[in-house]
Amino acid sequence: MYTVAQLVGGVWGAGGDGGELVVHDPADGSPVSTVPVATADEVGKATQAARNAAAQWAATAPAERAAALHRAADAVEAVVEELSAAVTAEMGKPMADARGGVEAGIGTLRQYAELAPLRGGRTLNGEADALDFMTPQPRGVVAAITPWNDPVAVSCGLLGAALVTGNVVLYKPSERTPATGWLLARALDQALPAGVLSLLTGGPEVGAAVAAQEVDVVAHVGSTATGRAIAAAAARTGAKVLLENGGSDPLIVDAGVDAEWAAGQAALGAFANAGQICVAVERIYVHREVAEDFVAALVRCAEALRVGPGRDPGTELGPLVDRRHRDHVHGQVAAAVAAGAQVRLGGAVPDGPGAFYPATVVTDCRHDMPLVREETFGPVAPVVVVDSFDEALRCAADSPYGLAATVLTASMSHAQRAWRELPVGTVKVNAVFGGAPGGAAHPRGASGQGFGYGPELLDEFTATKAVHIKAPGGGHW
Ligand code: NAD
Repeated sequence: MYTVAQLVGGVWGAGGDGGELVVHDPADGSPVSTVPVATADEVGKATQAARNAAAQWAATAPAERAAALHRAADAVEAVVEELSAAVTAEMGKPMADARGGVEAGIGTLRQYAELAPLRGGRTLNGEADALDFMTPQPRGVVAAITPWNDPVAVSCGLLGAALVTGNVVLYKPSERTPATGWLLARALDQALPAGVLSLLTGGPEVGAAVAAQEVDVVAHVGSTATGRAIAAAAARTGAKVLLENGGSDPLIVDAGVDAEWAAGQAALGAFANAGQICVAVERIYVHREVAEDFVAALVRCAEALRVGPGRDPGTELGPLVDRRHRDHVHGQVAAAVAAGAQVRLGGAVPDGPGAFYPATVVTDCRHDMPLVREETFGPVAPVVVVDSFDEALRCAADSPYGLAATVLTASMSHAQRAWRELPVGTVKVNAVFGGAPGGAAHPRGASGQGFGYGPELLDEFTATKAVHIKAPGGGHW
């Protein structure tokens, strides 16, 4: 059992007068973590303490901040097993995936430690007796509010980029993975001057209190509804917002592709992490020519998944994060069935402990069903049959979200049309996951705004200043 503590003004164990939360293991319902809940007053004091520490950290040499981030990465590496186990215990992810997420986070910390000191501004071509340049400066206090579905990888991105560029950070991890956030903050804090990183814990109301503070940036990765609430709060304080929200990513399966291969890709995209990935495959548009073979192969892939608690070696499909989320997932499936969709596999809430939900394949879906249009965030593959690539592209593009999309096709012209025409941040052709290191994109529509990843995230956390220096008295230097 983890006993989480907050970190405020460089002091561990501060506050928590808002009560206590208990997190339960989604595999069996047993208690995993107890968590203090911050009051609004504590959040205000933490913000003030962070503000007091900001100037010194901002004035620390970039190379020194980068060295601190490297030491922080070492400290996270030293607790990689503990962190992975906490992720699995709190949100159910299979151990190997949990470890992969922690390792990705460590890699991101190191990348930002290397990249940040190399990024500078431009010098300008001004008058001969003047010096003109543009230089990035830290923004000040960054609030980082994070989700549970890949908690270490996501948090390391925001925290690493914000810290190494000279900002102080108020970190509010998800109430579903608070011990994970606490273990991460403990490791990072070892390498940082006191007060540079603060940890505030609790539920949505604590997130809302953080977002309402007079901070300089609110960086949020999470649902669209929360992102919108944060944008509204920041409009009142003037804080910059960075929003990486939800998605409803389409997968287009073109005529002429190998049905078995396409089904393998669809299964990976829809069922990995029990579908709880922002860029999971959320809706499938398959050409009528391959639809029957594709669905049969997809059902076989889903049946073959090894289901179990995330801590069991070999588990491929763990539980959902909790029963509240399972109700949401099943509610969308049940509504689709009531509207005429057919469950080909799964689709029923199992008996027994925990928050398990089976890999589910649903056919006869229509593009306007909430199961297809909204984010499900569960191990569900809704299939819509289309008659042409044009129709598939049109349906894929017709969405409130704009995070990512995948197209499986052997046609170069279709691949070219897909990446040019789809109004999303990331387009993948012939692979549901993957991409070169350092990739970053602008999410569109309800999926958010700003760069949440890659070297560009470093720029999001700095403000560029233009400087013009002349010799005094109109003379020469
Ligand atoms: P969530 O929005 O419910 O919670 C995220 C964080 O916001 C938590 O720390 C929560 O306490 C806090 N929060 C909740 N209400 C708030 C409010 N009114 N004001 C301020 N903070 C508030 O999201 P979640 O369920 O933790 O995460 C799943 C969602 O995250 C999915 O929609 C998924 O697609 C998205 N996600 C997006 C990306 C991306 O890069 N675009 C990556 C991972 C997850």
